[in-house]
Amino acid sequence: MCQIMIEELKNKTKTTRELTQRFRKTFALNRASAGFAKDLKDLTFTLHCEQSDGAFIHDVDGNQYIDLTMGFGSILFGHNYEPLKKEIIKQLEKNWSVGPITPLAGQLAAKINQLTGVERVAFFNSGTEAVMVALRLAKATTKKNKIVFFKGAYHGTFDTLLSLKSNSSYQAQEIVPGVTQSILNESFLLEYGANESLQFIKENIHEIAAVLVEPVQSRNPALQPKEFLQQLRVITKEGNSALIFDEVITGFRIGIGGAQAFFSVQADIVTYGKVIGGGLPIGIVAGNAKFLDATDGGFWKFGDDSAPSVKMTFVAGTFCHHPLAMVTALKTLELLEENQGEILKTLNSKTEKFCARLNTYFQSMNYPIITNHFASLFRFTTPGKTSILYNYLLLNGVYVWEGRNCFLSPAHSEEILEDLFLIIKKSCEQMEQDGFLIPKKKK
Ligand code: PMP
Repeated sequence: MCQIMIEELKNKTKTTRELTQRFRKTFALNRASAGFAKDLKDLTFTLHCEQSDGAFIHDVDGNQYIDLTMGFGSILFGHNYEPLKKEIIKQLEKNWSVGPITPLAGQLAAKINQLTGVERVAFFNSGTEAVMVALRLAKATTKKNKIVFFKGAYHGTFDTLLSLKSNSSYQAQEIVPGVTQSILNESFLLEYGANESLQFIKENIHEIAAVLVEPVQSRNPALQPKEFLQQLRVITKEGNSALIFDEVITGFRIGIGGAQAFFSVQADIVTYGKVIGGGLPIGIVAGNAKFLDATDGGFWKFGDDSAPSVKMTFVAGTFCHHPLAMVTALKTLELLEENQGEILKTLNSKTEKFCARLNTYFQSMNYPIITNHFASLFRFTTPGKTSILYNYLLLNGVYVWEGRNCFLSPAHSEEILEDLFLIIKKSCEQMEQDGFLIPKKKK
């Protein structure tokens, strides 16, 4: 283990480490122990920051970093983006209370309908909550009880989806304490993109309420199985199951129409989060009235004898239509729409070019590292010991969070990207010197 790098990084993040230690007894934070390994114990902490601006964050020790985490993908335009900040401040002057509904919520639903074609829209506070509700609506509507999801996907922390392995009957298996097998007994966990999965779904469709997909998995952005998704669409339609697209990351990022438009597949229910919230907490369930009607009983009118006609399940939440989240979401959509969605196109092609440049470099050095991207999301693949890359990056001024999804934003200018490239190059050179990166030909 490289003692010099460890000592330098410890020094650089002195205050973060002091705060982490001071509060550890009372502040229970899963990230503070993420990836714990004895030999890197001193570098197991979550960076503490007080300021962010554009493509940069500033930690409590006064260091500046190029941020590749970008609010886990929730900050699309860059930190402290002035047009969003103005809307938030304007709304703060009016109110930030919940209780009565703000007119902003209806306006936002209408805007999402106009931009994506979804029939109805419901608001929640997080991606996890949106996925949980989507599954409930699917079960309520189809009156079936099994759900299918896929290996490699991440859908948040709802219990029925917290599994990484399945048995020979594809039944999801218990992997974390507290999520017991009985909770997982209604969940099937299948291989993503595989023909056997389609076959299994076809054979069991009579009991499957929903097939939940993360169309492009953030942990494996290279896998973009268009045909598989299109076949899922056919099978679920024929079998009266809900096809749910979890677009918490891909939504309003690959394009305004998200992965549905990208793959030419219209899901029954789609969940959104992150980008659309402009950095504020949000989770959205949108889709066909057939499924969304279970939230409120469906359409009815004042002044005639119409009434809610669909049996309702139960969904609710104190902060579901928070005015600050609604106003930032509306402004976000307005900004994304400008110049026919030019901002996303430019950002996505910038990410593609940057990843290609990195891959050319890694290849030219025979390093075993590669990057893959989808829209403005990218990930390094760092086999074996090369995962220490993130520590070297931090030392050299680049921040990547523990889950390792990276995002670019329009605030990552060409100049910043040049610096970023040089930092990655320098980090690789140091890793090679310290014996963590062995060029393939030298093996
Ligand atoms: N779905 C996907 C595809 C996600 O990436 C995430 C979070 N990264 C979630 C759901 C959960 O969202 P949240 O963290 O807002 O609960």
